[in-house]
Amino acid sequence: MGIAAERLDVLRRADPELASLMSAELDRQQYTLELIPSENVASPAVLEAVGSWLTNKYAEGTPGKRYYGGCEFVDQIEALAQQRACALFSAEHANVQPHCGSSANLAAYMAICKPGDTILGMDLSHGGHLTHGSPVSFSGIFYHAEFYGVSRDTEQLDYEEVRRRAQEVRPQVLVAGASAYPRVFDFKALAEIAQEVGARLLVDMAHFAGLVAGGAHPSPVPYADVVTLTTHKTLRGPWGGMILCPEERAKEVDKAVFPGAQGGPLLHAIAGKAVALHAWAQPEMQGYAQRVVANAKRLADGLMSEGLRLVSGGTDNHLMLIDLRPLQLTGRQVQEAFDRAHVTVNRNSIPFDEASKFNPSGIRLGTPAVTTRGMGPGEMDEIAHLIAQLIHHLGDEAVAEEVAGRARALCEAYPLPYS
Ligand SMILES: *Cc1c(COP(=O)(O)O)cnc(C)c1O
Repeated sequence: MGIAAERLDVLRRADPELASLMSAELDRQQYTLELIPSENVASPAVLEAVGSWLTNKYAEGTPGKRYYGGCEFVDQIEALAQQRACALFSAEHANVQPHCGSSANLAAYMAICKPGDTILGMDLSHGGHLTHGSPVSFSGIFYHAEFYGVSRDTEQLDYEEVRRRAQEVRPQVLVAGASAYPRVFDFKALAEIAQEVGARLLVDMAHFAGLVAGGAHPSPVPYADVVTLTTHKTLRGPWGGMILCPEERAKEVDKAVFPGAQGGPLLHAIAGKAVALHAWAQPEMQGYAQRVVANAKRLADGLMSEGLRLVSGGTDNHLMLIDLRPLQLTGRQVQEAFDRAHVTVNRNSIPFDEASKFNPSGIRLGTPAVTTRGMGPGEMDEIAHLIAQLIHHLGDEAVAEEVAGRARALCEAYPLPYS
């Protein structure tokens, strides 16, 4: 019996109502082509660690310096996760306690600046994240937020423009990293800009941490004062966050996480992070990051050859954005049509979008999850064709049905690793 069946068996006896909802969600995941670039498929070993008795333990503090007794084993578990994170990313210090990417960013800001300071981040509609200064997030509420964006011609970052903005606003923190930017960042250029204006550099690699881990994306670790990441996106671990920094900043970072931003650590999640970090050293992960990027390039080429326009003309990483403006379609329309065809993508703003945030003109998609399931170039060609069919024949039920059938067949050929 696989891990999913075993767990559902226990749950059915304890709570049939919840078990049936979890079973339905498992089926949805099993038979949906998952193209949301921030999602992935955690391994059975990660699920085992996360769904374990470690959830019973309180351990405020850090390994060896806890406010609770009985921490001898959880100390070793957390230290193991820290050592593995430092080894994988060549970092001097790792804090593995952040509950998610947003809490990692909250703690990172607390470690390197004060409320009211100026932070300069990438505009949300150009790919940045809510926690990089949006007025609805703590980052825009507690800090004075300013933004930089991509250039209109290339739809890519122009580092001279970032420098000009940095000189204009003199931020205490320069924030780099994004949720919807299909290109790599020049961390050396960013570090130089930060240095010129006396700012600290925070790199949020939430999206591309797994690409960095696998050597398919440059690493910000040698350049940034603080690096934050999520563990559930390309890194293929459990839901969670993490902070990397040089040894000299370790104390401030640890204090900012606890007691600054959080209470006790989620030791079950930390164990899951340890398992996921360990997996990067195993043969089955070899080449995963390169395959994610190669698949994304192949998918992007396929979409463009089917007449779709991609923001910035392609991708260097795991994600891409389809510009729906030339087709006079909206993100919501397209996302809903995809849902009906069992293909999951998300609508997203694109640079210089004039449509509303709720119904923007872009569709964001990526390859981490389908690559984890084992799909390769041939499947990318087929997926590109399915997407183009759906978009070019929006509202045509026969096309939607055919796409749904093909999407299901692909999912059946590359099952989740839970049975
Ligand atoms: C996903 C993401 C986060 C936040 O992660 P949560 O775990 O959802 O809080 C932060 N920054 C960037 C750039 C992200 O893409």
